[in-house]
Amino acid sequence: MPYANLSYEWLGPAIFVSAAGAFLLLYLHDRRQLPILRLAGAWLLSVIGFVVVMLVDVDLQPAYQLVIMGSLFSGHFLLVWGVASLMGKDAPWLPIGIATLLVLGAVFYANYHGSLFWLRVIAVNAFTAIVYLSCCQLVWRARSHRTDVVLASVFLIQVVMSVSRIARIGLSNLDLSTHASFKSSQFALSMQTENAIFAIMLGLALFARYSVALVMQLQRHAETDPLTGLFNRRAFEAKAQALRTASEPLPAGLIICDIDHFKRVNDSHGHAVGDRTLKAFARLLERETPDAAICARLGGEEFCILITGLDEEATRLQAIHLRAAVERLRIVLNTGHLRLTASFGYSALDAGDELWTAVSAVDAAVYQAKNDGRNLVRGIASPVAKTGQAKLA
Ligand code: GH3
Ligand code: MG
Ligand code: MG
Repeated sequence: MPYANLSYEWLGPAIFVSAAGAFLLLYLHDRRQLPILRLAGAWLLSVIGFVVVMLVDVDLQPAYQLVIMGSLFSGHFLLVWGVASLMGKDAPWLPIGIATLLVLGAVFYANYHGSLFWLRVIAVNAFTAIVYLSCCQLVWRARSHRTDVVLASVFLIQVVMSVSRIARIGLSNLDLSTHASFKSSQFALSMQTENAIFAIMLGLALFARYSVALVMQLQRHAETDPLTGLFNRRAFEAKAQALRTASEPLPAGLIICDIDHFKRVNDSHGHAVGDRTLKAFARLLERETPDAAICARLGGEEFCILITGLDEEATRLQAIHLRAAVERLRIVLNTGHLRLTASFGYSALDAGDELWTAVSAVDAAVYQAKNDGRNLVRGIASPVAKTGQAKLA
């Protein structure tokens, strides 16, 4: 029975195809992930040139050269495009375009003069160095997580490898005058091995980067209220606890507010205007509170704010400030504009106070503000939770 005599040369193409397959599977799972499709294309197209160089023994015919150059350019264009879109940036087409023209010029020159195969190898390595340097710079500038640092480093390693290959050609007296001499050289073998190692390192780094981005996106979805973009109830609890622990022993100001007569907004202007009002209200809360404040939508038209470092008086002043800001808010309608008021409750939490006990006590203060005529601020005598009783101030 014939037995395929596979040599380890095939490891390189196998790595390329496996990485492409993995990206493709991810893309098929979620077809909105175009960056992943581009990366799959990059690996698939690159393997073509890789295999042609491996298989063709004679000096390269124009058709083979065309395939190799086509694979080099298209594979790397897709890589740059994929990486840039994965990072949410525009691709650096200008340096890539210039590098492409330079390589094409060098290749034509080498072909015209014959026996200058080394010039083609230099040109290709200069091209990859420029491409990977652009990718490295792009990833570094847009980095938001430590997987980005790893990704940028992998690109940088390959820049160094490409440049060192150029130096090796320049400094040693390798015979790279023809394709045949190149192919039989140790240099070609090591270049192919290095490229295969790079392909797997880069594939894994991009995979890790993509997975982290996906997990972060899922986390964001799980934490956010889809209408207003504020934290939801569950995230509020987690963020508030973390922030309070980090700022111990300082107290924290807790403010809860509920839009007055919000049902009338829906009834008079429709649900869409109601939604728009909730979004505008959420933006106001973000705008009118310190950057470190945690703003959340507890449900319906009820919102909650936690600000660390505020004592009772500072919390009261913040609530008064917000109440006045709501009064000034204008929701633009086709027929004029809509004005709002909201009722506020507040309390200062000491380090030991339990969050949800405090929330229900402050809720009672909001209820009191409603009963007292709305558009008012009402506080709870602190500490709230130690007594477990909400004493309205
Ligand atoms: P009060 O001054 O006593 O708070 O009166 P209210 O009308 O604001 O309170 P009520 O609890 O009677 O009504 C709340 C309304 O908020 C009813 C509900 O339809 C509306 N609402 C809750 N969630 C949303 C939402 O996501 N979008 C819109 N448009 N309306 C919502
Ligand atoms: Mg209300
Ligand atoms: Mg309500």
